[in-house]
Amino acid sequence: MISDKNTSKTSLSELGEFKLIDHLTQSAQLGQASTLKGVGDDAAVLDHKDCQQLVSTDLLIEGVHFDLAYMPLKHLGYKAVVVNVSDICAMNGQATQITVSIAVSNRFSLEALEAFYEGVHLACKTYSVDLVGGDTTSSTTGMMISVTAIGTVEKDQAVYRNTAKSNDLLVVSGDLGAAYLGLQVLEREKQVFQVNPGSQPDLSPYDYLIERQLKPEARKDIVRLLSALAVRPTAMIDISDGLSSEILHLCTQSKVGCHLYEEKIPLDPQVMAASEEFELNSTTVALNGGEDYELLFTISQDDYSKIKANPNLTVIGHMTEAGEGAYLLTRAEQKIALTAQGWKGF
Ligand code: ADP
Ligand code: MG
Repeated sequence: MISDKNTSKTSLSELGEFKLIDHLTQSAQLGQASTLKGVGDDAAVLDHKDCQQLVSTDLLIEGVHFDLAYMPLKHLGYKAVVVNVSDICAMNGQATQITVSIAVSNRFSLEALEAFYEGVHLACKTYSVDLVGGDTTSSTTGMMISVTAIGTVEKDQAVYRNTAKSNDLLVVSGDLGAAYLGLQVLEREKQVFQVNPGSQPDLSPYDYLIERQLKPEARKDIVRLLSALAVRPTAMIDISDGLSSEILHLCTQSKVGCHLYEEKIPLDPQVMAASEEFELNSTTVALNGGEDYELLFTISQDDYSKIKANPNLTVIGHMTEAGEGAYLLTRAEQKIALTAQGWKGF
């Protein structure tokens, strides 16, 4: 939590904008050959040679996308970068640079922004992306963060949302629903804390869920894996809003239908246990929870043998003809139309 009440914190006005930018960006290390000029001039200069460039931006607003009561600033910095790197991965690309723009009110201290940038720098290191610019300004209320990720993909290797074909297999990486349940656990603890500030909850049964909520990862490894397996997805998207909503994006944009099999949806044991505890249906959690940042993609049936043994990849359904619609086929052999209930916010 950010508070100037008890510890000595440095007010942002003590530094001024330029010293602040310097302070926050001085530890940025440039590692990408394509970064010709990073922070410090009117614009960064990048040279991506023969590759095609990818650009993706996200805007995050305090109180809408994140709650600083349970989101430590370091995690927020990390997550803000990761969700943008994930978008580049979903294009079958490699993220190379980011810009980070922030607006904060004067209730934020220098130490708070340092913590945020610690997370930003850590994510940059983890994903080998260079921080090459941004903007810093004041806000009258909460915190706003905008991250732009820049990446590359080899010529004509970008994978779009609108190119899935009927009979393609629908594949997802990792497992689903954990980030949403992590949020439920954190919300519950926040309420307990408000009633009883001395409480020391044991969150160990939920460690995977909380990690998935507070420290998501972009599946850069899956992009590499698919390339190593010589599998080129026919369409791809990352799961930010929930499986159901992302499947519908693929279907609508590709003009195909889909059969999703409930029994195939990959769930971690903690997701099953916490769903029961919160009296939620684990399939609903996986379908509508969101923020998993897994990759959802379609492949030609000819590629099935290349992926079938991989523990990181699960075939969860297949695409159908356009007019057939998108359905969940349940364990009880019911056929239920998928609906988009995107989950908004961190
Ligand atoms: P300008 O007045 O041209 O917008 P700024 O003083 O805002 O320039 O920024 C100076 C340099 O610092 C630029 O390279 C800009 O990209 C970078 N920069 C500004 N704010 C941030 C930030 N929050 N994080 C990273 N880089 C930043
Ligand atoms: Mg500026």
